[in-house]
Amino acid sequence: MRSLSKFSMGVGDRFGMEGVAQLRAFLAARERGVNITPVWNKSNREHSLIGTRPEDVRTEADTAVERCGWEDDYFVDADHIGLGSVDPFLASSDFFTIDVADAIGQAASDEAIAGYTADMQRFVGALRIPGIAEPLAVTSAALQEIAAKYLFAVEEAGRVYRHISGMKGESSFVTEVSFDEASTPQTPAELFFILAALARDAVPVATVAPKFTGEFLKGIDYVGDFARFAQQFADDLAVLAFAQKSFGLPEGLKLSVHSGSDKFSLYPIMHRAMKQVGAGLHLKTAGTTWLEEVIGLAAAGGDGLAFAKALYREAYGRYDELGKPYLTVIAINRQALPTPAAVDGWAAKDYVDALAHDPTCPRFNSHFRQMVHISFRLAAERLPQYLALLQANRSRIEAHVFDNIYQRHMQPLFLGTVP
Ligand SMILES: [Zn+2]
Repeated sequence: MRSLSKFSMGVGDRFGMEGVAQLRAFLAARERGVNITPVWNKSNREHSLIGTRPEDVRTEADTAVERCGWEDDYFVDADHIGLGSVDPFLASSDFFTIDVADAIGQAASDEAIAGYTADMQRFVGALRIPGIAEPLAVTSAALQEIAAKYLFAVEEAGRVYRHISGMKGESSFVTEVSFDEASTPQTPAELFFILAALARDAVPVATVAPKFTGEFLKGIDYVGDFARFAQQFADDLAVLAFAQKSFGLPEGLKLSVHSGSDKFSLYPIMHRAMKQVGAGLHLKTAGTTWLEEVIGLAAAGGDGLAFAKALYREAYGRYDELGKPYLTVIAINRQALPTPAAVDGWAAKDYVDALAHDPTCPRFNSHFRQMVHISFRLAAERLPQYLALLQANRSRIEAHVFDNIYQRHMQPLFLGTVP
């Protein structure tokens, strides 16, 4: 397998126009002495909603790398794929996020469960994990339960991994396994035994995406209990380090945080926890570069602002259709949305203040922001006009894209500085 550096960040780009501006943020971090590996990711869902193909992401990444003279590693992530959806990504991706959340709770065979639990008997009792204060109490019954819940999902990850490695060769890609779209967060013990099962199945997992406590919604800050998150995050770091050694998993095994953009409240917590133990991280963002494009257009006034207003008017009327693929990852209170007529009366600054994610700005409206976020396919429906506007406002938009990634995400999370 290919290895992934300690810090990496997934960047999405709905329309594939901002690769250079995104990569400049990684260059800026590198100038400050922090190497972060860029990973361009786009899921099947996003491709199908706007009619792009996996090879478009590869082209964008390669072009940006060439134009910026980037000499370090970079990857193209087939995000949230399974056996049924991976094939179109095989040629262009070298990072695969194998999503097995839907397989959680399906039954593995009795033999598989018996073999696994017999192997894991050695952990029954008080399991001490360095970095976790209290030993985890592991019982045979708990092992049975974990096997019943997760073993089939891990086997599925193995099937997808072997399908990919059979087509591409083992050493040509990075493997991530994601459980983040599960219905409940995994406990540290569950994560430990999931990693054990992945190792038994010879899946060389480089990054694992658990479901964390609280809500990770698209494009807005974390909703949940900060202390509980901090505890789970630190525990998970400890579990990964211990499991890596115990099971001979790839060195540098690290957590992947999905829907990780805009979680401004969590970055200082995550930075401290990683620094304390020297851990790495993959942060996967949620395609919010698209919002920076809309912010740039609105800020420009004139045609750009008119487009942004028309987009909102149509999105407001098509809420049910636009929200449907995202219902579990958005929380829009429709009563809190401005009417399109009100938005039509806004000046450029009013639109930008409502949309840009500055929690200290009293005019910021997280419902409006989420509504615009899910309306990217409306821009895809009038693509020539949209692309022409992006072109006409290129430098302004690139400045927004860069600042969002570098100042608001990389600085607090990876550099540990205040933007
Ligand atoms: Zn995810």
